[in-house]
Amino acid sequence: MQKPFYITTTLPYVNASPHVGFAMEIIRADVLARYKKSQGYTVFFSTGTDEHGQKIYQNAVDQGIDTQAYVDHYAEQFKGLRQALAISPDVHFIRTTDAHHIAAAQAFWKRCADNGYIYKKSYEGLYCVGCEMFLTDKDLVHGECPHHPGRPLTELKEENYFFKFSALQEKLLALYEARPDFVIPDFRFNEIKQFVADGLNDFSISRTAERMPWGIPVPGDDTQVMYVWFDALVNYISTLGWPDDQETFTQFWVEGTPTQIAGKDNLRQQSAMWQAMLIAADLPTTHQILINGFINSGGHKMSKSLGNVIDPYDLVREYGTEALRYYLVRHVHQYEDTDVTIDRFHEAYTAHLANGIGNLASRLLALSEKYCQPNTSAPAPHDAWHREMDAYRFDRAYDYVWSCIQALDKRIADEQPFKLVKEDPQAGALCITGMVTELLNITSMLEPLMPHTAERIYAAIAANTKPEIPLFARIERAA
Ligand SMILES: [Zn+2]
Repeated sequence: MQKPFYITTTLPYVNASPHVGFAMEIIRADVLARYKKSQGYTVFFSTGTDEHGQKIYQNAVDQGIDTQAYVDHYAEQFKGLRQALAISPDVHFIRTTDAHHIAAAQAFWKRCADNGYIYKKSYEGLYCVGCEMFLTDKDLVHGECPHHPGRPLTELKEENYFFKFSALQEKLLALYEARPDFVIPDFRFNEIKQFVADGLNDFSISRTAERMPWGIPVPGDDTQVMYVWFDALVNYISTLGWPDDQETFTQFWVEGTPTQIAGKDNLRQQSAMWQAMLIAADLPTTHQILINGFINSGGHKMSKSLGNVIDPYDLVREYGTEALRYYLVRHVHQYEDTDVTIDRFHEAYTAHLANGIGNLASRLLALSEKYCQPNTSAPAPHDAWHREMDAYRFDRAYDYVWSCIQALDKRIADEQPFKLVKEDPQAGALCITGMVTELLNITSMLEPLMPHTAERIYAAIAANTKPEIPLFARIERAA
């Protein structure tokens, strides 16, 4: 039987258009999903949209439109990413306004409540509307939310339901102890271990329906709706059909190795809060969580006011989907923050795609077309690439692939098959065929990252002809 593999992104909150950080997250998840599939796994790949909460409600009210219409509009934009970013067509897309998810969130709540992890109390504190979270003193940086500097915090008093996070400290620490690579990379894992070891505060998991009606009703209490984080986190299992579809849930979550990918601003929610919620509901925890760094631009965090926002759709329009996938996986560090500028993107495109793989494939296939029979070798990815892919170091895996592309370029320069074939046709044809075989190997390694490019190179090799349209056209950049 095929082994199951489950991978999920976080669900972006639909109060704005998709940003490049999320594009990176879903592309990396897709690279992993495609890779695991190629290794014989049955893959369940999930993404979707987080659609409840104060900010969404407020935006819809401010714009004078129906909240459902507002979230429908944004959900479509996010669904459009699948096409724009060449995400696997069989990706599951869950919306937290789906009827099934709503029922699952309520069932999850009931389990936590039945197990004694939910209670009601009056709470007063500083609330960040950006995070949809109450913040404590130790969260603040210069009196502000570290993720939303410049945005005033609201003083809020409410009677809400609370989740007994504090009661789960020992169990979380035991989980971290038992799984030395539960969070990757190490420095993020250490950060969350420290956070939990320092002591946990119970957190509010509901809002009054009167103040904020756009949420999932708390089971048995019409006056309250669920806090958006509590509801949204449940998507990682409701997407598998939990609690109704026990078969799928068991296959991928209980007996599989459920894997999550998230940005560093989601470290606490994914690796502590969500895990505590699973423990409280008496369900197995996630197997592993990969934490991405941030993409900065021109030395700063991207922001509209600085005018340095990089729109993934713009890059796709100008350079194509495959170029964006390539750049975000190979040139953005897997775990550290990375600075991205359009200039650097353009340089990498020209050097590694137009002049790199594009030029190599076209030169080699032009020679093969003229002097060789069609190549029927089976593509064989290299072990060194497998090792990096298995370790989830996609950036290094693709550094390696480009070192193979360079090596093949060098072989052409050194062995000069275009001359050799004129002096000794048989030796020349053999030499070219050997090089096309290596191009096939390279193509098999490109497949998870650049599926369309790989498809076109395979087709050109099978037809023994150079690609009619260049794989990566040279793009002039206005000065
Ligand atoms: Zn915030």
